[in-house]
Amino acid sequence: MTAVLHDLIALEDEFGAHNYHPLDVIIERAKGVWVWDVDGKKYLDCLAAYSAVNQGHCHPHIQNALVSQAQRVTLTSRAFRNDQFPRLLERLHAISGFDQALLMNSGAEAVETALKAARKWGHVVKGIPEGRQHIIACENNFHGRTISIVSFSSHEEYRAGFGPFTPGFTLVPFGDAEALERAITPDTCAFLVEPIQGEAGIVVPPRGYLKRAEEICRKHNVLLIVDEIQSGLGRAGAMFAYQLERVQPDAITIGKALSGGFYPVSALLARREVMGVFKPGEHGSTFGGNPLGCAVAIAALDVIVDERLPERAAQLGAYFMGLLRTIVNPVIREVRGSGLWIGLQLHEPARPYCEALMARGVLCKETHDTVMRIAPPLVITRDEIDWAFDQIRNVLERR
Ligand SMILES: *Cc1c(COP(=O)(O)O)cnc(C)c1O
Repeated sequence: MTAVLHDLIALEDEFGAHNYHPLDVIIERAKGVWVWDVDGKKYLDCLAAYSAVNQGHCHPHIQNALVSQAQRVTLTSRAFRNDQFPRLLERLHAISGFDQALLMNSGAEAVETALKAARKWGHVVKGIPEGRQHIIACENNFHGRTISIVSFSSHEEYRAGFGPFTPGFTLVPFGDAEALERAITPDTCAFLVEPIQGEAGIVVPPRGYLKRAEEICRKHNVLLIVDEIQSGLGRAGAMFAYQLERVQPDAITIGKALSGGFYPVSALLARREVMGVFKPGEHGSTFGGNPLGCAVAIAALDVIVDERLPERAAQLGAYFMGLLRTIVNPVIREVRGSGLWIGLQLHEPARPYCEALMARGVLCKETHDTVMRIAPPLVITRDEIDWAFDQIRNVLERR
């Protein structure tokens, strides 16, 4: 390890909270699918900041939007109007078909907004007595880190020591629509679900699951809220992963790639009846809908559409997964995924393999111990996939 690397790691350990366990690579600059460390060593990024940089690092179109907007106006607060916010709203409507959007910053805030909308809709529209509204989510979910969101996490590490928790949530097994139906009561206002569970290890549910969940939700007048923060905006091989099952949720949350990695922007998109429960003063965020974030998000959406990233993800993902399935090693339990969102499930901890890959110039990160997540920026080329595959095969076949 070089001196500068060592010093920076020591500083981070000394003065930063230890709430992450990063690989010891210190990235100094990035372009497209490539990142460079402080020693000038180059790596192919196969994590893409948990799908926040689907457009590739430092995409020039988004960069220009950021810089030129930063020279005009960056923040007005929603006390006043700004010229970028309505343009983004119109764009989100055009891309998704949802009636209305509410802009926030982080993904967790978008999910919190969805939970508030669902509870209020449950009371005001469905007529559930105030304080009794109840939301169903899935085991092994990941929806963010706020107290209310970890209140319905089944991951002990996310919860230990953070109680007391927010009541009003129940969990059902992911992929089991009948369990969802059994869990519904007259007080249920919403079912919150990831179309493919990302943090749980790229877990793809049985075919037809989301469709069946939609039917059950309709039958019981329960909102179907799909968390597309990681799966959406091209990653899974469609603009939104729910489209792969031809369902129509009542609301979705988006974030991450909504800004192409430049600036935190998230949103709840919903039907008018759901969004309509918010009246002036009832919910908000100082930075939510700010002109800098909106200009960046418009440009980030331009790139997804103009460069046909969902189609690229579908085609290149199928190609990459096909290559990965040719690796022969009993340590591999399963190769699964959707689009350029691939989980290599191993029989043992994935961390040593991620470290070996880092040494060969490929960055990826284990999730839930035994899964290697492979999710490069969607602008990756076939040649770059071939090169990444050679490194992965070498690391996996070497042992
Ligand atoms: C990352 C993620 C979140 C949380 O987003 P943050 O920006 O980290 O708050 C929520 N839901 C899903 C599905 C995610 O992948």
